Amino acid sequence: MVVLMYPSDYENDELIFFQEDDEPLIADVDRGVWNLLVVDDDEEIHSVTRLALSDIEWNGRKLAFHHAYSGEQALEKMRELGSKLAIVLLDVVMETDDAGLITAKKMREELKLDEPRIILRTGQPGYAPEENVIKEYDINDYKTKTELTRSKLVTTIIASLRSYQQILTINQGRKGLRKIIVSASNLLEEHSIKGYCEGVVTQISSLMGLEADGVVCARAGSLLDKDDNGVYVLGAAGEYATYINQKLENMHNDQIKHNVIQCLLSKEHIFGANFTVLFMSSAGREAAVYINLSREIDDAHRQLLEVFLSSVSVGYENVNLFHELRVAAYRDGLTKLPNRNEFINRLDNIELQAGESQNLVMALVDVSHFADINDGLGQDVGNQLLISVAERLQDELGPEVEKGRIAADVFGLLGSDEKVNPLVLNKIFKTAFDAGDHHIPINMAMGLVRLGKPPFIGMDIIKHSNIALNLAKRSAVNNFEYYAQKMEEETSWRLATIRQLRTDFSARKLQVWFQPQVSLVDEQILGAEALLRWPSKDGGFISPGVFVPLAEYSGLIVEIGIWVLEEACCRIKQLEEMGMHGKRIAVNISVPQFRDPDFVPLVKQIIISKQIDPSLIELEITESVAMDEPQIVVEALKALKDFGVSIAIDDFGTGFSSMSYLQQLPLDRLKVDRAFIKDIGKGKSSFFAETIITLGQKLGLDTIAEGIETIEQAKYMQNLGCDEAQGFLYAKPMPFDEFTDFIKNYTPGTYLQ
Ligand code: C2E
Ligand code: MG
Ligand code: MG
Repeated sequence: MVVLMYPSDYENDELIFFQEDDEPLIADVDRGVWNLLVVDDDEEIHSVTRLALSDIEWNGRKLAFHHAYSGEQALEKMRELGSKLAIVLLDVVMETDDAGLITAKKMREELKLDEPRIILRTGQPGYAPEENVIKEYDINDYKTKTELTRSKLVTTIIASLRSYQQILTINQGRKGLRKIIVSASNLLEEHSIKGYCEGVVTQISSLMGLEADGVVCARAGSLLDKDDNGVYVLGAAGEYATYINQKLENMHNDQIKHNVIQCLLSKEHIFGANFTVLFMSSAGREAAVYINLSREIDDAHRQLLEVFLSSVSVGYENVNLFHELRVAAYRDGLTKLPNRNEFINRLDNIELQAGESQNLVMALVDVSHFADINDGLGQDVGNQLLISVAERLQDELGPEVEKGRIAADVFGLLGSDEKVNPLVLNKIFKTAFDAGDHHIPINMAMGLVRLGKPPFIGMDIIKHSNIALNLAKRSAVNNFEYYAQKMEEETSWRLATIRQLRTDFSARKLQVWFQPQVSLVDEQILGAEALLRWPSKDGGFISPGVFVPLAEYSGLIVEIGIWVLEEACCRIKQLEEMGMHGKRIAVNISVPQFRDPDFVPLVKQIIISKQIDPSLIELEITESVAMDEPQIVVEALKALKDFGVSIAIDDFGTGFSSMSYLQQLPLDRLKVDRAFIKDIGKGKSSFFAETIITLGQKLGLDTIAEGIETIEQAKYMQNLGCDEAQGFLYAKPMPFDEFTDFIKNYTPGTYLQ
């Protein structure tokens, strides 16, 4: 099984957790008791005080007594107890007359203990502190010892406890808010939904002083897929982490399932005895945060949680937006499959289980003639067809095979050799696809790559499968091809050759040569075929058999072909001017030229501008060209024929044209392919050549034999009734100047009299 890492899983997952101090929002410090520190140098006061206050209980807690006998000792105790200290009963006069006041000052200023309340006691009224001291050191009460009867002491203590608790709550609230601000702003930096939700659970738990344990859930409709209304676990911390990205209903905890649904329906927080579910909402994006608690939380803390939620829900909105952008950026909107970028990402991040490296295959599947379907039946049908293909791939190949839409009509597949292979894939495409009201049978071509050992580079894998795909598309034998190293070398050779051809064509280095065509009746020169020549660096010529297919493949043939036609027209004009009248020139035309909508008007325009008789131009199309895109070819040829040019079918007999199709073409001439001529002689006859000549005669077409090298072949074709001949016997293709010399020096009847 292949494990693929999704970018969202490893990106941004590191949270910056709040670390200011580890003090939780609900301080555990003074749970159970109120700490009272008695500071007096008189031992008796200590015991009297304990006695007087021993049975006091306020808010369910008793007092815990701590004792100090000097200012120094008192400070030590204070340091120990910190803000757990609720009240200090402080004697003013101890080792010095103002020892108590100094202690109060140090407690507030040096120990920075603001929360504990101070009750000053003194033996004599004369030692009463100044009013400003009382204010400055936040002294709650001042009493002479005689004033402090038991009941008064109890009242004073209870009032102080109340004020201590209020201060504590306010302070904790303030600290809590500060933590909320910090944690909310940390969360704002989080961009993945999973990371963000985990952060919310962790931060709330930390505010509550608990181990992080909870989940964040939302309806998918708002997030992932508009048609899915299920509730999903978006993020979790603690024991529920395994449920991330799963449906809530898969959780084995009824309390969570029930309360999360309840919260999403009522859009309100739920506070239970050992859990809370908080409702989070911003700009219509809603989620429920379920947290396990070990105790119920009080009102003050509920309020703080609400403040926290309102600050983090903005972040929730942001991560949702971010997620949607990611989905848009990484998913194909039409088929919902990963798009090219995401598919490449997945290839980059393939993780292999031990021992499975050998049989992983990536395939590109190209829907043939998709553009025609799109043009012919409309874009809606085209879109539906692609959706149908995507769905069938999903159904037939299952989740173990990764799928993606790599280009408009190209799908990517990644999986084991058992599933991603030509046999299986061809079977999947065997039956027609539904698209709207149509039932469309489609062909496809596949480029496959066997993945070796990691590391894998997605772009390279795509590049390699594309090379194989291009070969598969051109192959006449199979509709698939597996990538091999040498293909890449061929491809780079091809690209370099095309580049060089383009450069040389621009630099006017290409030439057009001419090969005479003669009558088999009287051996008069009727004209010539124009043939391209590309001079190579070594003084020779690169064969058009090699570079014309490349020029066709790259589209360059459209420009080159027009130039050849211009050359032919100019030469006809020159021949006329030289007194060699009525010489016809045949020009070869390739498929891409027919696809160019300007082709027909351009041909006419050139012939008109050169002021030549259109019937002196003959267009040669090979039989395979004629078959490739019948409709375009038939229409273009009819228009040109009407204009006056002649049409010949080249290499006749090598293709598979049907008779009915041939009859639709406005032809003048059949060119018998060299293959049927070459065996003539040596005592052999050619059945095929004979058939073609008979056929031509039946169709009322002239015939010309290509590749006539011997007198015997010429005679044989003449006897069959073939009208014309072209071949090395008469002349090889030659530059124009040589061709004019050839005409001047030519004597008809040399071979056939
Ligand atoms: P094609 O149109 O069938 O041209 C005939 C080819 O047979 C020419 O090869 C010619 O040199 C060769 N040939 C002629 N007589 C003989 C002979 O007696 N014996 C032998 N062995 N060969 C003979 P070339 O010039 O190498 O052209 C090859 C092909 O390149 C052409 O086949 C044509 O399909 C293509 N081509 C050449 N020029 C152009 C052009 O301007 N445009 C397009 N689209 N294709 C061209
Ligand atoms: Mg030709
Ligand atoms: Mg030919």
